[in-house]
Amino acid sequence: MLTIEKLNKSFDNNQVLKEINLTFQPGETTVILGPSGSGKSTLLRAIDLLETPDSGTIKIDQDHLSFPQKLSFRQLKEYRGHFSIVFQAYNLFPHLTVIQNVMEGPTQVKKVSKEQAREQAEKLLTTVGLLDKAKERPKQLSGGQMQRVAIARALAMEPEFMLYDEPTSALDPELAQEVLQVIKDLAESGNGQIVVTHHLEFARKVADRIVFLEAGQVTFDGSSQAFFESDNLRIQRYLQQFL
Ligand code: ADP
Ligand code: MG
Repeated sequence: MLTIEKLNKSFDNNQVLKEINLTFQPGETTVILGPSGSGKSTLLRAIDLLETPDSGTIKIDQDHLSFPQKLSFRQLKEYRGHFSIVFQAYNLFPHLTVIQNVMEGPTQVKKVSKEQAREQAEKLLTTVGLLDKAKERPKQLSGGQMQRVAIARALAMEPEFMLYDEPTSALDPELAQEVLQVIKDLAESGNGQIVVTHHLEFARKVADRIVFLEAGQVTFDGSSQAFFESDNLRIQRYLQQFL
């Protein structure tokens, strides 16, 4: 379980996260919605410590962080092992083949043997439907395929939570759907996931829970059904812009 309490983050005088309290259960998919600039990316980045929170606590397993906190390189690496983050732009290594991209983290960071990493990578490429592309280079793939490789690569690190920051926003609708389908399949097989997206249909169908962020504050945290049936005017206004 991942527990965030009273988390705050400012950039200069701009307080971007305000007293965030959230709990994420293992194996659940949470979708984070909210207007542009509400702090969604900063929240994901703070969870992965790509941004350092100013105050508050984050607890996951044995790791209890209380900010401000100094972490050694080793502690940071260990903490980050709980998460894998997939960004909008698939940043695959261009000089490596698809399967080498997926094997890179396990062999380089986790010191897994090549044979074992290859076996795992083949399984993961099967999961994202791209085993037949194993020997191609990223530039031979479509954007949707690249993003699916990025997901396989992130999964190879065996995180407790996959974090996705608008993973489909650089893709055409059709390619976006194939990526969303992979995330849906992963949700159904019980992966812990935190997904920032604007795809409301996806949120409605896949989210075990929805968190709504507005100006750095959590203003809704509950079931997908409760969210879409909410009579809160700001939530309704947010939903209406996608109709
Ligand atoms: P969202 O992902 O919901 O669109 P962000 O988390 O990207 O929102 O941004 C929230 C606010 O924080 C915005 O006002 C943005 O300009 C600001 N912000 C984000 N990252 C930085 C940064 N590295 N330096 C300064 N301001 C930032
Ligand atoms: Mg963002």
